[in-house]
Amino acid sequence: MKQKINLSLMTLSVLAIFVTMFCLTSVYYNLFQEQVRKDLKIEARMLSETGISRLVENQGFIGDEEIRITWISQDGQVLYDNDVDTHYLTNHLDREEVKAAFETGFGESVRESDTMNMRTFYYAVLLEDGTVLRVSTRARSLVSVFFSAFPVMILILLVILGLCLVLSHLLTRQLLEPIREMAEDLENVPATSTYSELSPFLDRIREQHEDILAAARSRQDFTANVSHELKTPITAISGYAELIENRMVDEKQQIKFAGDIRKNADRLVSLINDIIRLSELDYGGGTLDFTSVDLYEVAEERIELLRTNAGRKNVSLILTGSSCMVTSNRSLLIELIDNLVQNAIRYNIPNGSVNILVEQRGGNAVLQVSDTGIGIPKADQSRVFERFYRVDKSRSRETGGTGLGLAIVKHIVELHQGTIRLESEMGKGTKIRIEL
Ligand code: ADP
Repeated sequence: MKQKINLSLMTLSVLAIFVTMFCLTSVYYNLFQEQVRKDLKIEARMLSETGISRLVENQGFIGDEEIRITWISQDGQVLYDNDVDTHYLTNHLDREEVKAAFETGFGESVRESDTMNMRTFYYAVLLEDGTVLRVSTRARSLVSVFFSAFPVMILILLVILGLCLVLSHLLTRQLLEPIREMAEDLENVPATSTYSELSPFLDRIREQHEDILAAARSRQDFTANVSHELKTPITAISGYAELIENRMVDEKQQIKFAGDIRKNADRLVSLINDIIRLSELDYGGGTLDFTSVDLYEVAEERIELLRTNAGRKNVSLILTGSSCMVTSNRSLLIELIDNLVQNAIRYNIPNGSVNILVEQRGGNAVLQVSDTGIGIPKADQSRVFERFYRVDKSRSRETGGTGLGLAIVKHIVELHQGTIRLESEMGKGTKIRIEL
Protein backbone atom coordinates (compact mmCIF):
# COMPACT_ATOMS: atom_id res chain seq x y z
CA MET A 1 0.00 0.00 0.00
CA LYS A 2 2.79 2.36 0.97
CA GLN A 3 4.62 1.68 -2.28
CA LYS A 4 1.45 2.08 -4.27
CA ILE A 5 0.60 5.46 -2.71
CA ASN A 6 4.20 6.52 -3.17
CA LEU A 7 4.22 5.59 -6.82
CA SER A 8 0.84 7.22 -7.52
CA LEU A 9 1.88 10.43 -5.80
CA MET A 10 5.13 10.57 -7.76
CA THR A 11 3.55 9.78 -11.11
CA LEU A 12 0.93 12.39 -10.42
CA SER A 13 3.49 15.06 -9.56
CA VAL A 14 5.73 14.32 -12.55
CA LEU A 15 2.71 14.52 -14.82
CA ALA A 16 1.41 17.66 -13.12
CA ILE A 17 4.77 19.39 -13.41
CA PHE A 18 5.19 18.59 -17.10
CA VAL A 19 1.65 19.58 -18.00
CA THR A 20 1.81 22.81 -15.96
CA MET A 21 5.17 23.74 -17.41
CA PHE A 22 4.03 23.08 -20.93
CA CYS A 23 0.79 25.00 -20.51
CA LEU A 24 2.49 27.94 -18.82
CA THR A 25 5.23 28.09 -21.43
CA SER A 26 2.67 28.01 -24.23
CA VAL A 27 0.58 30.77 -22.67
CA TYR A 28 3.58 33.00 -22.06
CA TYR A 29 5.05 32.21 -25.43
CA ASN A 30 1.84 33.28 -27.15
CA LEU A 31 1.80 36.51 -25.18
CA PHE A 32 5.43 37.07 -26.06
CA GLN A 33 4.72 36.38 -29.75
CA GLU A 34 1.88 38.90 -29.67
CA GLN A 35 4.21 41.47 -28.17
CA VAL A 36 6.89 40.82 -30.83
CA ARG A 37 4.31 41.31 -33.58
CA LYS A 38 3.02 44.49 -32.00
CA ASP A 39 6.54 45.88 -31.63
CA LEU A 40 7.33 45.09 -35.25
CA LYS A 41 4.17 46.81 -36.38
CA ILE A 42 4.99 49.94 -34.38
CA GLU A 43 8.55 49.93 -35.70
CA ALA A 44 7.30 49.60 -39.30
CA ARG A 45 4.75 52.39 -38.89
CA MET A 46 7.36 54.67 -37.34
CA LEU A 47 9.84 54.01 -40.11
CA SER A 48 7.24 54.50 -42.81
CA GLU A 49 6.10 57.76 -41.29
CA THR A 50 9.65 59.05 -40.99
CA GLY A 51 10.36 58.21 -44.62
CA ILE A 52 12.72 55.31 -45.23
CA SER A 53 14.38 56.77 -48.32
CA ARG A 54 15.38 59.86 -46.46
CA LEU A 55 16.74 57.87 -43.55
CA VAL A 56 18.74 55.60 -45.82
CA GLU A 57 20.24 58.56 -47.66
CA ASN A 58 21.07 60.45 -44.46
CA GLN A 59 22.33 57.67 -42.16
CA GLY A 60 23.45 54.77 -44.30
CA PHE A 61 22.43 52.39 -41.46
CA ILE A 62 19.11 52.44 -39.68
CA GLY A 63 17.50 50.41 -36.91
CA ASP A 64 19.48 48.23 -34.51
CA GLU A 65 20.94 44.78 -34.49
CA GLU A 66 17.78 43.23 -33.13
CA ILE A 67 15.63 44.45 -35.96
CA ARG A 68 16.32 43.80 -39.59
CA ILE A 69 14.96 46.38 -41.99
CA THR A 70 14.46 45.62 -45.66
CA TRP A 71 13.21 48.05 -48.29
CA ILE A 72 11.79 46.49 -51.43
CA SER A 73 11.01 48.14 -54.72
CA GLN A 74 7.77 47.66 -56.64
CA ASP A 75 9.36 44.93 -58.74
CA GLY A 76 10.68 43.02 -55.71
CA GLN A 77 14.28 44.22 -55.83
CA VAL A 78 15.81 44.80 -52.41
CA LEU A 79 16.75 48.47 -52.30
CA TYR A 80 18.11 48.41 -48.79
CA ASP A 81 18.81 45.84 -46.08
CA ASN A 82 20.50 46.67 -42.79
CA ASP A 83 21.68 43.11 -42.24
CA VAL A 84 22.67 41.54 -45.56
CA ASP A 85 24.31 43.03 -48.62
CA THR A 86 21.56 43.70 -51.17
CA HIS A 87 23.62 42.04 -53.90
CA TYR A 88 23.14 38.69 -52.25
CA LEU A 89 19.43 39.03 -51.90
CA THR A 90 17.08 37.56 -54.47
CA ASN A 91 13.82 39.03 -55.61
CA HIS A 92 11.48 39.38 -52.61
CA LEU A 93 8.14 39.34 -54.45
CA ASP A 94 7.66 35.69 -53.49
CA ARG A 95 7.89 36.43 -49.75
CA GLU A 96 4.51 35.92 -48.20
CA GLU A 97 4.43 39.13 -46.16
CA VAL A 98 5.80 41.21 -49.10
CA LYS A 99 3.20 39.81 -51.46
CA ALA A 100 0.43 40.58 -48.95
CA ALA A 101 1.75 44.11 -48.41
CA PHE A 102 1.66 44.84 -52.16
CA GLU A 103 -1.87 43.50 -52.34
CA THR A 104 -3.51 44.76 -49.15
CA GLY A 105 -1.19 47.41 -47.74
CA PHE A 106 0.45 45.23 -45.09
CA GLY A 107 1.54 41.65 -44.54
CA GLU A 108 2.68 39.45 -41.68
CA SER A 109 4.38 36.10 -41.46
CA VAL A 110 6.42 33.87 -39.21
CA ARG A 111 9.05 31.44 -40.47
CA GLU A 112 10.89 28.73 -38.59
CA SER A 113 14.62 28.69 -38.97
CA ASP A 114 16.30 25.52 -40.20
CA THR A 115 17.24 24.35 -36.75
CA MET A 116 13.73 24.87 -35.35
CA ASN A 117 15.31 26.75 -32.52
CA MET A 118 14.51 30.20 -33.81
CA ARG A 119 11.56 31.82 -35.47
CA THR A 120 11.61 34.97 -37.56
CA PHE A 121 8.70 37.37 -37.39
CA TYR A 122 8.08 39.60 -40.40
CA TYR A 123 5.90 42.69 -40.84
CA ALA A 124 5.70 44.46 -44.18
CA VAL A 125 3.92 47.69 -45.02
CA LEU A 126 3.25 49.38 -48.38
CA LEU A 127 4.69 52.91 -48.53
CA GLU A 128 3.10 55.86 -50.35
CA ASP A 129 5.61 55.65 -53.21
CA GLY A 130 4.58 52.06 -53.97
CA THR A 131 7.63 50.42 -52.35
CA VAL A 132 7.42 48.04 -49.39
CA LEU A 133 9.15 48.36 -46.06
CA ARG A 134 9.67 45.13 -44.13
CA VAL A 135 10.85 44.77 -40.56
CA SER A 136 11.74 41.49 -38.96
CA THR A 137 13.14 40.08 -35.78
CA ARG A 138 14.25 36.71 -34.57
CA ALA A 139 12.99 35.05 -31.41
CA ARG A 140 13.39 31.63 -29.85
CA SER A 141 10.82 29.01 -30.75
CA LEU A 142 8.41 27.48 -28.26
CA VAL A 143 10.32 24.17 -28.21
CA SER A 144 13.54 25.99 -27.51
CA VAL A 145 11.97 28.02 -24.70
CA PHE A 146 10.44 24.86 -23.26
CA PHE A 147 13.72 22.98 -23.31
CA SER A 148 15.62 25.87 -21.86
CA ALA A 149 13.30 25.60 -18.83
CA PHE A 150 14.32 21.95 -18.41
CA PRO A 151 17.04 22.30 -15.79
CA VAL A 152 14.74 24.36 -13.57
CA MET A 153 12.00 21.84 -14.17
CA ILE A 154 14.20 18.92 -13.15
CA LEU A 155 15.23 20.79 -10.01
CA ILE A 156 11.58 21.45 -9.07
CA LEU A 157 10.79 17.82 -9.89
CA LEU A 158 13.47 16.53 -7.56
CA VAL A 159 12.23 18.75 -4.73
CA ILE A 160 8.63 17.61 -5.31
CA LEU A 161 9.63 13.93 -5.51
CA GLY A 162 11.41 14.30 -2.20
CA LEU A 163 8.30 15.91 -0.74
CA CYS A 164 6.20 13.05 -2.16
CA LEU A 165 8.36 10.49 -0.40
CA VAL A 166 7.89 12.20 2.94
CA LEU A 167 4.19 12.84 2.32
CA SER A 168 3.39 9.31 1.20
CA HIS A 169 5.19 7.96 4.23
CA LEU A 170 3.12 10.17 6.55
CA LEU A 171 -0.06 9.58 4.60
CA THR A 172 0.17 5.79 4.58
CA ARG A 173 0.99 5.79 8.25
CA GLN A 174 -2.02 7.94 8.96
CA LEU A 175 -4.25 5.87 6.65
CA LEU A 176 -3.13 2.51 7.97
CA GLU A 177 -3.07 3.38 11.64
CA PRO A 178 -6.84 2.82 12.24
CA ILE A 179 -6.68 -0.47 10.30
CA ARG A 180 -3.71 -1.62 12.35
CA GLU A 181 -5.56 -0.68 15.55
CA MET A 182 -8.63 -2.61 14.35
CA ALA A 183 -6.57 -5.69 13.54
CA GLU A 184 -4.99 -5.60 16.98
CA ASP A 185 -8.28 -5.60 18.83
CA LEU A 186 -11.11 -6.78 16.59
CA GLU A 187 -13.49 -7.33 19.47
CA ASN A 188 -13.47 -3.74 20.64
CA VAL A 189 -13.64 -1.86 17.38
CA PRO A 190 -16.18 0.95 17.83
CA ALA A 191 -19.31 0.49 15.73
CA THR A 192 -18.57 3.74 13.88
CA SER A 193 -15.00 3.29 12.82
CA THR A 194 -12.77 5.84 11.07
CA TYR A 195 -13.53 4.32 7.68
CA SER A 196 -17.21 3.81 7.03
CA GLU A 197 -16.23 1.94 3.83
CA LEU A 198 -14.68 -0.75 6.01
CA SER A 199 -17.85 -1.27 8.06
CA PRO A 200 -19.32 -4.11 5.92
CA PHE A 201 -15.89 -5.75 5.89
CA LEU A 202 -15.59 -5.41 9.66
CA ASP A 203 -19.13 -6.64 10.26
CA ARG A 204 -18.38 -9.68 8.13
CA ILE A 205 -15.15 -10.39 10.03
CA ARG A 206 -16.91 -9.94 13.34
CA GLU A 207 -19.73 -12.23 12.22
CA GLN A 208 -17.25 -14.87 11.12
CA HIS A 209 -15.32 -14.43 14.32
CA GLU A 210 -18.49 -14.96 16.34
CA ASP A 211 -19.45 -17.96 14.18
CA ILE A 212 -16.04 -19.50 14.75
CA LEU A 213 -16.31 -18.91 18.49
CA ALA A 214 -19.83 -20.33 18.55
CA ALA A 215 -18.75 -23.37 16.53
CA ALA A 216 -15.81 -23.93 18.86
CA ARG A 217 -18.08 -23.60 21.88
CA SER A 218 -20.66 -25.99 20.44
CA ARG A 219 -17.91 -28.50 19.57
CA GLN A 220 -16.66 -28.24 23.13
CA ASP A 221 -20.17 -28.74 24.51
CA PHE A 222 -20.71 -31.64 22.14
CA THR A 223 -17.51 -33.37 23.22
CA ALA A 224 -18.44 -32.89 26.88
CA ASN A 225 -21.94 -34.25 26.22
CA VAL A 226 -20.66 -37.21 24.24
CA SER A 227 -18.26 -38.16 27.03
CA HIS A 228 -21.05 -37.87 29.57
CA GLU A 229 -23.52 -39.87 27.45
CA LEU A 230 -21.00 -42.64 26.83
CA LYS A 231 -20.00 -42.81 30.44
CA THR A 232 -23.47 -43.67 31.71
CA PRO A 233 -24.00 -46.99 29.84
CA ILE A 234 -20.35 -47.98 30.26
CA THR A 235 -20.53 -47.44 34.03
CA ALA A 236 -23.73 -49.49 34.14
CA ILE A 237 -22.23 -52.31 32.06
CA SER A 238 -19.12 -52.34 34.24
CA GLY A 239 -21.24 -52.38 37.42
CA TYR A 240 -23.44 -55.27 36.30
CA ALA A 241 -20.45 -57.25 35.08
CA GLU A 242 -18.67 -56.72 38.37
CA LEU A 243 -21.64 -58.05 40.34
CA ILE A 244 -21.83 -61.15 38.16
CA GLU A 245 -18.06 -61.58 38.33
CA ASN A 246 -18.11 -61.53 42.13
CA ARG A 247 -21.01 -64.00 42.14
CA MET A 248 -23.09 -61.53 44.03
CA VAL A 249 -26.25 -62.27 42.05
CA ASP A 250 -28.26 -65.46 41.75
CA GLU A 251 -28.87 -67.16 38.43
CA LYS A 252 -32.26 -65.53 37.85
CA GLN A 253 -30.80 -62.08 38.46
CA GLN A 254 -27.88 -62.88 36.23
CA ILE A 255 -30.22 -63.23 33.27
CA LYS A 256 -31.80 -59.85 34.11
CA PHE A 257 -28.36 -58.25 34.45
CA ALA A 258 -27.24 -59.77 31.17
CA GLY A 259 -30.31 -58.16 29.61
CA ASP A 260 -29.40 -54.83 31.19
CA ILE A 261 -25.86 -55.16 29.90
CA ARG A 262 -27.19 -55.83 26.41
CA LYS A 263 -29.57 -52.84 26.63
CA ASN A 264 -26.75 -50.53 27.68
CA ALA A 265 -24.50 -51.95 24.96
CA ASP A 266 -27.28 -51.31 22.43
CA ARG A 267 -27.55 -47.77 23.73
CA LEU A 268 -23.82 -47.33 23.26
CA VAL A 269 -24.07 -48.64 19.71
CA SER A 270 -26.93 -46.26 18.84
CA LEU A 271 -25.10 -43.37 20.46
CA ILE A 272 -21.91 -44.10 18.55
CA ASN A 273 -23.84 -44.58 15.33
CA ASP A 274 -25.59 -41.23 15.75
CA ILE A 275 -22.34 -39.47 16.60
CA ILE A 276 -20.65 -40.97 13.55
CA ARG A 277 -23.66 -40.00 11.40
CA LEU A 278 -23.53 -36.41 12.67
CA SER A 279 -19.82 -36.03 12.06
CA GLU A 280 -20.24 -37.55 8.60
CA LEU A 281 -22.94 -34.97 7.89
CA ASP A 282 -20.71 -32.23 9.31
CA TYR A 283 -17.70 -33.05 7.18
CA GLY A 284 -18.84 -35.17 4.28
CA GLY A 285 -22.46 -34.13 3.72
CA GLY A 286 -21.52 -32.16 0.65
CA THR A 287 -19.77 -35.08 -1.04
CA LEU A 288 -22.76 -37.45 -0.97
CA ASP A 289 -24.25 -38.50 -4.31
CA PHE A 290 -27.62 -36.90 -4.97
CA THR A 291 -29.93 -38.69 -7.42
CA SER A 292 -33.63 -38.78 -8.13
CA VAL A 293 -35.28 -40.88 -5.38
CA ASP A 294 -38.95 -41.72 -4.73
CA LEU A 295 -39.59 -40.50 -1.19
CA TYR A 296 -42.90 -42.41 -0.99
CA GLU A 297 -41.23 -45.68 -1.90
CA VAL A 298 -38.51 -45.20 0.74
CA ALA A 299 -41.15 -44.28 3.34
CA GLU A 300 -43.18 -47.39 2.49
CA GLU A 301 -40.12 -49.61 2.91
CA ARG A 302 -39.04 -48.05 6.23
CA ILE A 303 -42.54 -48.09 7.71
CA GLU A 304 -42.80 -51.82 7.02
CA LEU A 305 -39.59 -52.34 9.00
CA LEU A 306 -40.69 -50.05 11.87
CA ARG A 307 -44.13 -51.64 12.16
CA THR A 308 -42.88 -54.40 14.48
CA ASN A 309 -41.42 -51.84 16.83
CA ALA A 310 -44.64 -49.82 16.73
CA GLY A 311 -46.72 -52.97 17.25
CA ARG A 312 -44.84 -53.66 20.46
CA LYS A 313 -46.19 -50.37 21.79
CA ASN A 314 -49.60 -50.79 20.26
CA VAL A 315 -49.05 -47.84 17.98
CA SER A 316 -50.37 -48.02 14.45
CA LEU A 317 -48.49 -46.55 11.47
CA ILE A 318 -50.50 -45.13 8.59
CA LEU A 319 -48.86 -43.98 5.37
CA THR A 320 -50.77 -41.79 2.93
CA GLY A 321 -49.82 -39.86 -0.18
CA SER A 322 -48.36 -40.79 -3.51
CA SER A 323 -45.14 -41.24 -5.39
CA CYS A 324 -42.95 -38.19 -4.93
CA MET A 325 -39.58 -37.76 -6.65
CA VAL A 326 -36.88 -35.82 -4.87
CA THR A 327 -33.24 -35.11 -5.65
CA SER A 328 -31.55 -36.65 -2.66
CA ASN A 329 -29.52 -39.50 -1.28
CA ARG A 330 -31.38 -42.66 -0.32
CA SER A 331 -29.48 -43.24 2.93
CA LEU A 332 -30.19 -39.63 4.02
CA LEU A 333 -33.92 -40.12 3.37
CA ILE A 334 -33.89 -43.38 5.36
CA GLU A 335 -32.21 -41.54 8.25
CA LEU A 336 -34.80 -38.76 8.05
CA ILE A 337 -37.84 -41.04 8.02
CA ASP A 338 -36.48 -43.42 10.69
CA ASN A 339 -35.70 -40.64 13.14
CA LEU A 340 -39.07 -38.92 12.76
CA VAL A 341 -41.17 -42.08 12.85
CA GLN A 342 -39.18 -43.61 15.73
CA ASN A 343 -39.76 -40.43 17.76
CA ALA A 344 -43.45 -40.49 16.89
CA ILE A 345 -43.63 -44.10 18.20
CA ARG A 346 -41.36 -43.46 21.19
CA TYR A 347 -43.27 -40.44 22.50
CA ASN A 348 -46.71 -41.85 21.74
CA ILE A 349 -49.38 -43.22 24.04
CA PRO A 350 -50.55 -46.85 24.03
CA ASN A 351 -53.03 -47.41 21.20
CA GLY A 352 -51.89 -44.20 19.63
CA SER A 353 -51.20 -43.72 15.95
CA VAL A 354 -48.67 -42.15 13.63
CA ASN A 355 -49.70 -40.64 10.32
CA ILE A 356 -47.06 -40.29 7.65
CA LEU A 357 -47.90 -38.18 4.63
CA VAL A 358 -45.73 -37.95 1.53
CA GLU A 359 -46.78 -35.57 -1.24
CA GLN A 360 -45.61 -33.14 -3.86
CA ARG A 361 -46.52 -29.53 -3.03
CA GLY A 362 -45.52 -26.55 -5.17
CA GLY A 363 -42.43 -28.22 -6.61
CA ASN A 364 -41.31 -29.43 -3.18
CA ALA A 365 -41.41 -32.88 -1.66
CA VAL A 366 -43.33 -32.97 1.63
CA LEU A 367 -42.79 -35.46 4.44
CA GLN A 368 -45.16 -34.96 7.35
CA VAL A 369 -45.14 -37.13 10.46
CA SER A 370 -47.96 -36.56 12.96
CA ASP A 371 -48.54 -38.50 16.12
CA THR A 372 -51.10 -38.71 18.87
CA GLY A 373 -48.38 -38.65 21.53
CA ILE A 374 -47.45 -36.68 24.60
CA GLY A 375 -46.52 -33.50 22.76
CA ILE A 376 -43.65 -31.07 23.33
CA PRO A 377 -44.00 -28.09 25.70
CA LYS A 378 -43.96 -24.68 23.94
CA ALA A 379 -40.75 -23.63 25.71
CA ASP A 380 -38.85 -26.68 24.42
CA GLN A 381 -40.14 -26.65 20.85
CA SER A 382 -37.34 -24.46 19.51
CA ARG A 383 -34.64 -26.44 21.32
CA VAL A 384 -35.46 -30.05 20.47
CA PHE A 385 -33.31 -29.80 17.32
CA GLU A 386 -30.19 -29.09 19.43
CA ARG A 387 -27.73 -31.93 19.98
CA PHE A 388 -28.50 -33.93 23.13
CA TYR A 389 -31.49 -31.76 24.02
CA ARG A 390 -34.27 -33.86 25.52
CA VAL A 391 -37.52 -32.74 27.10
CA ASP A 392 -37.72 -35.77 29.36
CA LYS A 393 -34.30 -37.33 29.75
CA SER A 394 -35.37 -40.57 31.40
CA ARG A 395 -38.16 -41.28 28.91
CA SER A 396 -35.76 -40.71 26.04
CA ARG A 397 -33.18 -43.06 27.56
CA GLU A 398 -35.66 -45.73 28.53
CA THR A 399 -37.00 -45.84 25.01
CA GLY A 400 -33.58 -45.96 23.40
CA GLY A 401 -33.28 -42.31 22.42
CA THR A 402 -29.91 -40.65 22.07
CA GLY A 403 -30.95 -37.01 21.99
CA LEU A 404 -29.38 -36.70 18.56
CA GLY A 405 -32.23 -37.79 16.27
CA LEU A 406 -33.73 -34.37 15.57
CA ALA A 407 -30.25 -32.80 15.27
CA ILE A 408 -29.55 -35.31 12.48
CA VAL A 409 -32.94 -34.52 10.92
CA LYS A 410 -32.18 -30.78 10.97
CA HIS A 411 -28.76 -31.38 9.43
CA ILE A 412 -30.19 -33.50 6.60
CA VAL A 413 -32.89 -30.90 5.86
CA GLU A 414 -30.22 -28.17 5.72
CA LEU A 415 -28.23 -30.24 3.25
CA HIS A 416 -31.31 -30.14 0.99
CA GLN A 417 -31.88 -26.43 1.71
CA GLY A 418 -35.29 -27.48 2.92
CA THR A 419 -37.53 -26.30 5.76
CA ILE A 420 -38.86 -27.85 8.99
CA ARG A 421 -42.06 -26.84 10.77
CA LEU A 422 -42.97 -28.23 14.15
CA GLU A 423 -46.43 -27.99 15.68
CA SER A 424 -47.13 -29.62 18.97
CA GLU A 425 -49.68 -29.54 21.73
CA MET A 426 -49.17 -31.15 25.11
CA GLY A 427 -51.28 -34.29 25.47
CA LYS A 428 -52.54 -34.11 21.90
CA GLY A 429 -49.58 -34.86 19.72
CA THR A 430 -46.82 -33.53 17.52
CA LYS A 431 -46.66 -32.76 13.81
CA ILE A 432 -43.35 -32.27 12.03
CA ARG A 433 -43.55 -31.12 8.42
CA ILE A 434 -40.50 -31.16 6.22
CA GLU A 435 -40.28 -29.67 2.74
CA LEU A 436 -37.36 -30.60 0.54
P1 ADP B 1 -34.26 -38.54 21.31
O1 ADP B 1 -33.29 -39.53 20.85
O2 ADP B 1 -34.18 -38.25 22.77
O3 ADP B 1 -35.64 -38.82 20.86
P2 ADP B 1 -34.36 -36.37 19.46
O4 ADP B 1 -33.33 -35.41 19.06
O5 ADP B 1 -34.95 -37.23 18.43
O6 ADP B 1 -33.77 -37.20 20.64
O7 ADP B 1 -35.51 -35.52 20.12
C1 ADP B 1 -35.23 -34.58 21.11
C2 ADP B 1 -36.32 -34.50 22.14
O8 ADP B 1 -37.51 -33.98 21.54
C3 ADP B 1 -36.73 -35.85 22.66
O9 ADP B 1 -35.95 -36.22 23.76
C4 ADP B 1 -38.16 -35.60 23.07
O10 ADP B 1 -38.21 -35.06 24.35
C5 ADP B 1 -38.64 -34.58 22.09
N1 ADP B 1 -39.42 -35.18 20.96
C6 ADP B 1 -38.98 -35.51 19.76
N2 ADP B 1 -39.96 -36.01 18.97
C7 ADP B 1 -41.06 -35.98 19.73
C8 ADP B 1 -42.43 -36.37 19.50
N3 ADP B 1 -42.83 -36.85 18.33
N4 ADP B 1 -43.30 -36.20 20.51
C9 ADP B 1 -42.91 -35.67 21.68
N5 ADP B 1 -41.63 -35.32 21.96
C10 ADP B 1 -40.73 -35.45 21.00
